[in-house]
Amino acid sequence: MNLRNIAIIAHVDHGKTTLVDKLLQQSGSFRENQRVAERVMDSGDIEKERGITILAKATSVVWKDIRINIVDTPGHADFGGEVERILSMVDGVIVLVDAAEGPMPQTKFVVGKALKIGLRPIVAINKVDRPDARANEVINEVFDLFAALDATDDQLDFPILYGSGRNGWMAETPEQPENADLSALFDLVVRHVPPAKVEEGPFRMLGTLLEANPFLGRIITGRIAAGTVKPNQTIKVLDREGKVVETGRVSKILAFRGIERQPIEVGEAGDIVSIAGLVKGSVADTFCDAAVDTPIQAQPIDPPTVTMS
Ligand code: GDP
Repeated sequence: MNLRNIAIIAHVDHGKTTLVDKLLQQSGSFRENQRVAERVMDSGDIEKERGITILAKATSVVWKDIRINIVDTPGHADFGGEVERILSMVDGVIVLVDAAEGPMPQTKFVVGKALKIGLRPIVAINKVDRPDARANEVINEVFDLFAALDATDDQLDFPILYGSGRNGWMAETPEQPENADLSALFDLVVRHVPPAKVEEGPFRMLGTLLEANPFLGRIITGRIAAGTVKPNQTIKVLDREGKVVETGRVSKILAFRGIERQPIEVGEAGDIVSIAGLVKGSVADTFCDAAVDTPIQAQPIDPPTVTMS
């Protein structure tokens, strides 16, 4: 399936959860009324390994036969490496900004990282229904922020949508259109964000997020760079120097579908999946076919890892 991997960067309360909920609703993807429960997983092993827990989650919607994986980013500056690792799984970002509040200093860090790794943001000015909305000024503030963060000309030439996530619409002007929906946002993501990168060759995936699941044990999440992976397949884990960390059997593969993670029969290149069954492989390790000897180059990281779900 045609894939897009994106992240939404937003200051807390600027409406990310509400928007994602509407995206799920309007795409007809699986939806629950409840928000995703954010929960810290506990595990002796992983606890020792990380010391801290960053909550992250992902959602996946299908629009016109294109799957859009939406990865959450921590809303503020975190310990070294997490934000880069999460952003390394995506090919585009939506910078969602409250039309009254404007860009907040806390989002600067994440936006800066996104620009630095070369992502070309879409800017969505949200909550234009607020009586105190000042969309045009906020656009200028976003532009100034990008410029201050050394954005390239291409990045400064960002596409802009205005809208109200709560009222379920986004459009090219701040006035609510007759046919109020989010199709403009879906279409812009599909047009502006390149299809998920896929390389040639056998299965390879950079471990990006690590968590402990009470039923499945250790779960590693990442974007499949090449090839496919199936349950029961024997795979290898390489550290950053290419040394074999372990060889083991995949017990389960999960992918984001709606707001849930569901078991899948085959993980395909480009998709963001979670793999259970390995016992040592960790963040920044390469999970791969037995034939692979060269690890994927990871961003330099600090020891802390990220817990999802
Ligand atoms: P998050 O912290 O970014 O996930 O923000 P939420 O989605 O939880 O929204 C924060 C608050 O803003 C809630 O009270 C929402 O009802 C409200 N909100 C979300 N979208 C809109 C919008 O389009 N317009 C207005 N006026 N309020 C909104």
